Amino acid sequence: MIVVMQPGASQEQVQDVEARLRQFGFDIHPIYGVERTVIAAVGAPELDRNEAKEQLESLPWVEQVTLVLKPYKFVSKKFRERTMVAVNGLPIGGDLFVVMAGPCTVESEEQLFKTAQAVHQAGAHILRGGAFKPSTSPYSFHGLGRTALELLQQARAMTGMPVITEVMDPRQVELVCEYADILQIGTRNMQNYDLLREVGRARKPVMLKRGMWATYEEWLQAAEYIWLGGNEQIILCERGIRTYETYTRNTLDLNAVPAIRELSHLPIIVDPSHGTGRASFVPAMTRAALAAGADGVMIEVHPNPASALKDGAQSLTLDAFRELMRTLRPLAEVMGRRL
Ligand code: PEP
Ligand code: MN
Repeated sequence: MIVVMQPGASQEQVQDVEARLRQFGFDIHPIYGVERTVIAAVGAPELDRNEAKEQLESLPWVEQVTLVLKPYKFVSKKFRERTMVAVNGLPIGGDLFVVMAGPCTVESEEQLFKTAQAVHQAGAHILRGGAFKPSTSPYSFHGLGRTALELLQQARAMTGMPVITEVMDPRQVELVCEYADILQIGTRNMQNYDLLREVGRARKPVMLKRGMWATYEEWLQAAEYIWLGGNEQIILCERGIRTYETYTRNTLDLNAVPAIRELSHLPIIVDPSHGTGRASFVPAMTRAALAAGADGVMIEVHPNPASALKDGAQSLTLDAFRELMRTLRPLAEVMGRRL
């Protein structure tokens, strides 16, 4: 970090800051100017730099503290070039453009099996389906819970597709691990640190959705929590953020794809369903995600969106999903990706 002292700070005040920096574990390199002193502090890899910065900035004789290092380390690009997450032998983060598809919420055996078979035949790689559903309204449907997990397991046996489903509570992690191949952390839980720690201890890949309010830096710090728990199988998912636009449910931030590529080695998946909230926009934004270089997409599909208990407006019909897969193939080829 770089500490800029107030102009005219006394020698004692400069020495005070130098002593504090040494106490934090830094090596210090001061530059004593005529008006101002600037201190470069290096080292102290384990230090919480934001806390140190806040402490120093509370001193009246410090003008400004600038952080040089990112507040995350292991999920950063500096740590590793690229991570491939293997889900039952299926690689995420390589040349395969991974398509996860299925209903927002598991509603019934018929609804799930019909969708699973259709998306499998159309070429999807991973089956999605919510068993425990977070909802803004306490009066919404909250999912079938364990029954849904059992149905997902049967759908996996039928199609051979690995299954991804959301886990909302640290107390559910063990149960969901018994059934799921990937644990999904939803947008509302991106900063649920107890949950992040718990899935960090799990031995299943985790897909961490971006908080709808979160910056890339906050998102990557959340991923760092999972990593520090001992779980390196982390996939990021851009699912749209809150902006002033109300025409779409969220604003799908496709900047996230090149940004995460630059900042992190973790795979990045795009969710155009929640990102737009409109089924008619999903094909265009799926192709945009592929063109932007995402590692895959997650798409909501329902046999009858008009009767879906959740997220019908953004769910593709089975036919629309098949059609989307058809238009993706030539694009994948141009982009040098497998589908
Ligand atoms: C979902 O995938 O159905 C879901 C609830 O997503 P998000 O957490 O992004 O809203
Ligand atoms: Mn949904």
